[in-house]
Amino acid sequence: MEGAKPGATEAANQIDPKDTIFAKIVAGTIPCKKVYEDEYCLAFDDINPVAPVHVMVIPKHPVSGVGNLATEQDKKAMGHIMAKIHHIASLKGIDSYRLVVNEGVQAQQSVRWLHIHLIGGRQLAWPPG
Ligand code: C5P
Repeated sequence: MEGAKPGATEAANQIDPKDTIFAKIVAGTIPCKKVYEDEYCLAFDDINPVAPVHVMVIPKHPVSGVGNLATEQDKKAMGHIMAKIHHIASLKGIDSYRLVVNEGVQAQQSVRWLHIHLIGGRQLAWPPG
């Protein structure tokens, strides 16, 4: 875990996804610019976009990260989300994009509610930083 502060991962793992800002967005107590919603997922414009299109796509039930995907509900939701991504991109007018999931402290996950960044609308560089 080069670069991560000692104990940071343990601290992040203690965070209940229900205590995150995305829980409030799903509950509707904090507003978002909704792009798409269905039974399993919510997609909304990122408040700090890194590209002309930057959408957060999240499961509607609490999962803290990829490392915590365990239940049948989790797997069903994530499969569903992947199958909806291209449609969500189309709602933003694009058919080429990058999906990013930051998992854990060293990857700079800042919200412990699993989320997929859908990024596009400009030429993207590779490799990412
Ligand atoms: O992967 P990471 O956890 O760093 O990404 C969290 C993302 O959630 C950021 O891109 C941030 O801009 C976004 N966010 C948001 N609305 C909020 C809080 C965070 O779109 N209210």
